[in-house]
Amino acid sequence: MASSQKSSKTLKLIVFDLDFTLWPYWADCHIQSPYRIASNEKIIDSAGNIVECYPDVPEVLADLHKKGYILGVASRCPDREGCRQLLNLFGFNKYLKYIEIHDCHKFQHFEKIKKSSGVDFSEMMFFDDDKNNIRDISSMGVVSILVREGITKQVVDDGIRQFHKRCSVQ
Ligand SMILES: [Mg+2]
Repeated sequence: MASSQKSSKTLKLIVFDLDFTLWPYWADCHIQSPYRIASNEKIIDSAGNIVECYPDVPEVLADLHKKGYILGVASRCPDREGCRQLLNLFGFNKYLKYIEIHDCHKFQHFEKIKKSSGVDFSEMMFFDDDKNNIRDISSMGVVSILVREGITKQVVDDGIRQFHKRCSVQ
């Protein structure tokens, strides 16, 4: 990838948190599984509330997938099955190669993704709304971006630019 003597990392794998990153809820708290598609084709939770992701998310995931990035999620939500169900109903499963949903420290999610994918932390990016997760996963060498109001095209584009800026120096 590097055209000069400077080394340059390639961005290979992008990992997203779920709650308040891909959708505006804590999926074990604000909404409740099981989820299903209602007759009006909206996704609803067990109480009949409509469940939506942040508006840019479907296009962002489709676009990143199309560009050849490997995609994954790392979530600490205790309702693992509910989250998997939502990812499936939103149609995101087809883009996500690694789905790590465990109520443990996110170090472990990333260790698992690294082991399964063979991709080094320096060639991964992470988006999450939690400052502590950003601090911790940054310390592993993953370029980690704090998401303030959910994933948008702008947040991801800016994040990828930051990755290349940080990783083209050495
Ligand atoms: Mg979150």
